[in-house]
Amino acid sequence: MGKRTDLTEYGYRKARARFLGDNDVCHLCGHPQADTVDHVVPVSKGTVDPSDQDNWLPAHGVNGCPTCGRKCNGEKSDRAAPRLTNSRDWYAGP
Ligand SMILES: [Zn+2]
Ligand SMILES: [Zn+2]
Repeated sequence: MGKRTDLTEYGYRKARARFLGDNDVCHLCGHPQADTVDHVVPVSKGTVDPSDQDNWLPAHGVNGCPTCGRKCNGEKSDRAAPRLTNSRDWYAGP
């Protein structure tokens, strides 16, 4: 039972594994073996359902890319907004 939007951690991991089983080519560096999903529209914006796979793209997570070594999903900030090269000047961060 449960609501449609009620995605458990287990359910999310299963869906993610299935998603990456179909396509594990990282959309950020173009290499295979992505181990996490990147949300095209950031979930933090609050406008998207985190479980909506239309909003998912494969990306390398904390383990990084075995081919180029990048931690793609951790590197990028907000894909929807152009990255400012001097963003550190005004973003003090937590
Ligand atoms: Zn990558
Ligand atoms: Zn790579």
